[in-house]
Amino acid sequence: MHCPFCRHPDSRVVDSRTSDDGMSIRRRRQCPACGRRFSTIETASLSVVKRGGVVEPFRRDKIIAGVRKACQGRPVSEQDLALLAQRVEETIRSTGSSEVDSHDVGLAILPPLRDLDEVAYLRFASVYRNFASIDDFEHAVEALRAARVGHARAGQVETDASAVDAGETDA
Ligand SMILES: [Zn+2]
Repeated sequence: MHCPFCRHPDSRVVDSRTSDDGMSIRRRRQCPACGRRFSTIETASLSVVKRGGVVEPFRRDKIIAGVRKACQGRPVSEQDLALLAQRVEETIRSTGSSEVDSHDVGLAILPPLRDLDEVAYLRFASVYRNFASIDDFEHAVEALRAARVGHARAGQVETDASAVDAGETDA
């Protein structure tokens, strides 16, 4: 980065500090040419491209606000919402892209919301996926039930495995 005072093309880092939320690093730099100091803030940028092409920075509180509506009256805590938003951000960042379509943000919300609360999930999905009829709800509920059976089977396998472990410990 160029020195903002003399435009020298190089600078030396004299101090680095991670922000409290861990999302950015503030660096104190010194210009080797004029000796003056300045600060830079480094973040891993993530932008959301909305319908119509408007680009805005990804923000967890927007995710939380959207999901909170679907969670009204449900046993979902602020902590749950914060964790969900974190999972959504991790999912999106793991794609390695610095720009994401708002539609894909919605898609990334669905799996963790399904794990969190099935009723809230159905509410969110019905708005997000534009459920037009009761058939759409029926299909979504069927998919939920199918996923539950899958979870139950996975749980069964785990139980069996731990039983085997216990047996080995006894022997
Ligand atoms: Zn300078």
